Parts: sequence; structure tokens; C-alpha cells
Amino acid sequence: MTTSYDLAVVGAGIVGLAHALAAARKGLKVIVIDRDAQANGASIRNFGFVTVTGQERGDCWRRAMRSRDVWAEIAPKAGIRVEHRGLVVAARRPEAMTVLEAFIATEMGEGCRLATPAEALGIVPALKADGLVGALHSSHEIRVESRDAIPKLARHLAEAHGVTFLRDTVVRAVEPPAIETSSGTIRAEAAVVCPGDDFLTLFPERIAAYGVTKCKLHMMRLKPGRDLQLGAAVMSDLGLVRYLGYAALPEAAALKTRLVAEQGPHLDNGVHLIVVQSADGSLVVGDSHHYGTTPDPFAPEAVDDLILDEFRAVLDLPQAAVSERWTGIYASAADRLMFVDTPSAKVRIAMVTSGTGASTAFAIGEETIGDLFP
Ligand SMILES: Cc1cc2nc3c(=O)[nH]c(=O)nc-3n(C[C@H](O)[C@H](O)[C@H](O)COP(=O)(O)OP(=O)(O)OC[C@H]3O[C@@H](n4cnc5c(N)ncnc54)[C@H](O)[C@@H]3O)c2cc1C
Repeated sequence: MTTSYDLAVVGAGIVGLAHALAAARKGLKVIVIDRDAQANGASIRNFGFVTVTGQERGDCWRRAMRSRDVWAEIAPKAGIRVEHRGLVVAARRPEAMTVLEAFIATEMGEGCRLATPAEALGIVPALKADGLVGALHSSHEIRVESRDAIPKLARHLAEAHGVTFLRDTVVRAVEPPAIETSSGTIRAEAAVVCPGDDFLTLFPERIAAYGVTKCKLHMMRLKPGRDLQLGAAVMSDLGLVRYLGYAALPEAAALKTRLVAEQGPHLDNGVHLIVVQSADGSLVVGDSHHYGTTPDPFAPEAVDDLILDEFRAVLDLPQAAVSERWTGIYASAADRLMFVDTPSAKVRIAMVTSGTGASTAFAIGEETIGDLFP
């Protein structure tokens, strides 16, 4: 290969594409290399739910705010449809409302308001009125259809920013200016490795030092059973003990105690509820969390039933029926949501080790590229 690049990005998931975008916007010549012929990792298996409210206080929340702005800016340019905006967290216990009241009093409450049950039903008419105590409405979130958005983002990078894509190609060694791949040696002055949940092909010792493991999630698509405009993404009480922006508040302890007593199997399987809607009216519903070095490939019905149980408790859609199921895996670490490692002056490893990559990758990309190319 005779062409020389300023930057090689390994991995064409959202983390790799975010780095490619940040570098291209600086006028750099970029190549993105991925072993798969088409996007197949966590980035097309998620909700496409760009979440701000609920992200961990501090850097994660700040990165989510910035990344949401980049998504909103790039979506129309790349032909990516924003399916809907905003989030309603439907509280069904007084303890959940107490968490939401505490949350709104923090700096993270910016752009959010508490809603009465009637107001919440005005935004999401499909909510189950019976048992609804109140809600939080956040205006920040946007929802894209990831399986459509990720390929469109890659195409936009190629067409509008001149980024080269090399697919069906595994990267075996990264030692700029030589990037060794199954398609030959590529010349690049610097490299960012964004390998998702592949901890072994490149820099395995460095990645292992972060204590990474994997998390398997169950996801479903439901036909709602009637014409319906969801109105906003929906979350429930279970999310308030999982999403760190709420769960780290002292007020979450009482809710956790009650949920342990009332929904132990949900918590044991890491089940909480996110519901978003697609252009055809169908709902993407999840999820669960099971951890392990090599998660098994099975998707037991009992886990899906727990997710559906919460769906039916929160939404008044008795006719809703499952039309598609899949699982996804993301990298996970017990003590951090992401890391950027520096194996050498011209190489970075950028990994999101939590379920926040769709929401934070653009900001991470800008920070890493700013550091590599000051
Ligand atoms: C079911 C599910 C739901 C989620 N929900 C949300 C959500 O609501 N909001 C949110 O913000 N985040 C969510 N996430 C998390 C988010 O999807 C991930 O954090 C993000 O997609 C990780 O992006 P990535 O680019 O690191 O990984 P991936 O998308 O997995 O991409 C990594 C790529 O690297 C390539 N690769 C690796 N090693 C090599 C190599 N040596 N050579 C060539 N190519 C290589 C792989 O082929 C792959 O294409 C969810 C994840 C899942 C699975």
C-alpha cells in the first residue's frame, strides 16, 4: 500500500467512527479498518438511545451532553433520522419519586422537570395510569435507529470527509508508521485502537490491566398491537438503581431496598427498562446484564419474561407482541465507564467499558484526537 495516512483507526463501531470524525474535522487523512464486512458489534445492537439524564455525574454526564450535540448536528448531514426526542422516567413508587426530586435539585437536573401522572401521560399516552406516581421529563435525549445510523455515519465519513474504510481486514499489530493487517501493511503516523469487546488481538496485556470483562444483554422488538406514537423514550423505577446519575444519590438506597424485596429476580438478572420507538411504529425494548469473560451464547426466555413483565407494568399495551430478539455484548469494567490508554506516544486504545458508548463516544473521540494531535 503506497498511501500514507495521518491516522489509522482500528474498529468501525461508534467509538472508532467518533475518532475518525474528530480527526477528519481537523483535516487529517484517516483510514478506518475493521475485521467485519459490515457493522456487527455493540454499536448496531443497542437502543440508539443517546442518553444524557441519568449518566454518571461529572465527566460522563458532560461527555453525554457534548455527544448529544454532535449527534444532533451530524444526523441531518448523514441522512440519519432522529426517531424521537426526550425521556420520561415513569415512577411507580414514592421512593422512586424521592430519587427524582433529589436528582432534579442537582446540576444534572438542567433541562429536566418533574411531571404529574397527567402530564406524563400527555407526553407518553401509552403509560399505564394505574400505579403511576409521577415522572421526570428530560428534554436532552435523542433516539436513532443504530442498525441504520452506524452504516450511514460511516458512509458520510467516507463521502463528506474523505475517510477511507478497509473492511474484512483484521489488524494484527499497531506500530506506527506500520499498521500490520491481513490485507498488508498500512502506513499511518498515529493510531487509535477502538476494539469494542475484543480484548485479545491487540495490546492484550494493556487491556487486561483495566480488569475488563464482558456484559451480555437481551434485547427485543415488539409490535405494539395498535397505532401509537410513543412520544419519548421510557424508563422505570429499575433504571433509577442502575443509572449512576440517580443510583449514586443517597435517596436511591430506600428505593433499592424496596426493589430488592419486590423485584429480586429483575435485579439478579440486571433487568431494567428502556423503551424506544422505530420509524415503523415498533418498539425496541430491553434489557438485562450478565457478566463473564466469555458470555454464553444463549438467551433464556425467562430473562426476556422479566423484561416483558416490567414493560407490561409500565406501559398499557396488552396486545404488544415480540417480533424480534437479539443479544449484544459490550466491554465492562467494575471501576470505570471508559478508558483511554497510551501504549506509545502515537498510539491510543479507546474503550468504553459500560453501556454508555452511544451516548459518549463523540466527546471521547474529540478528547483523544485533541491529545494525539494538539
Ligand atoms: C444491547 C446493548 C444496548 C446498549 N444500549 C446503550 C444505550 O442505550 N446507550 C448507550 O450509550 N450505549 C448503549 N450500549 C453500549 C454501546 O453500544 C457501546 O458502548 C458501544 O457500541 C461500543 O462501541 P465500540 O465501537 O467500542 O464497539 P463495537 O461496536 O463492538 O465495535 C468494535 C469494532 O472493532 C472491530 N475490531 C476489534 N478488533 C479488531 C481488530 N484487531 N482488527 C479489526 N477490527 C477489529 C470489531 O470488528 C468491531 O466492529 C449498549 C450496548 C448493547 C450491546
